[in-house]
Amino acid sequence: MTLTPIKTPLLAKKLFPNYVWDISTSKKVIYLTFDDGPTPEITNWTLNVLKQYNAKATFFCIGNNIIKHSEIFQNILNHGHAIGNHTHNHIKGWKTSAEDYLKNIAEAQEQISLKSPKTINLFRPPYGQITPKQGKKLIEFGYKIIMWDVLSFDWDKDVEKEVCLENVLTKTTEGSIIVFHDSVKASKNMQYALPKVLTYFSEKGYCFKALNEAF
Ligand SMILES: [Zn+2]
Repeated sequence: MTLTPIKTPLLAKKLFPNYVWDISTSKKVIYLTFDDGPTPEITNWTLNVLKQYNAKATFFCIGNNIIKHSEIFQNILNHGHAIGNHTHNHIKGWKTSAEDYLKNIAEAQEQISLKSPKTINLFRPPYGQITPKQGKKLIEFGYKIIMWDVLSFDWDKDVEKEVCLENVLTKTTEGSIIVFHDSVKASKNMQYALPKVLTYFSEKGYCFKALNEAF
């Protein structure tokens, strides 16, 4: 049993209005996001599946993984997806001082900037953990803090793959930001759900865009 809701309640969105929870639109657009990569095997598989549906997405990369798997990172860019910052070492905001947190994010941003021409700085806090002070500073530095509208729970080993799929199919609406992971841990559920999500919403006339197109 988890206390984290699949769909972010309106109240939470209203309590933290400076963070981006969804994109306000009446158009049939969905914003898929993938956290924790680049990951050997999984990320390239994801890129190929997205390509089959002409779908664009946003990859919230861990800086250290960019260093370890720079070719895969380059593949993400070559496919035309957006890149977001997910800290350098996947650290927890609530357990880290604002100074150290910002330093770790800057370290990751350095890796991103090396290969990706600077457009817009997107940041997603690992575990959704970020303190008001950290958030305020990042916004001052020009970051957009991207939270989510729908969690697939792909990473949760107690969640069946069919449930992961159902989470996304039933909770997604126009402008939803959906969280998946291109990680080994989430691969069983994500690799089951992603093609089905893409098929289902494509048939309903939706398209999939990267978040840099939303601002
Ligand atoms: Zn993460």
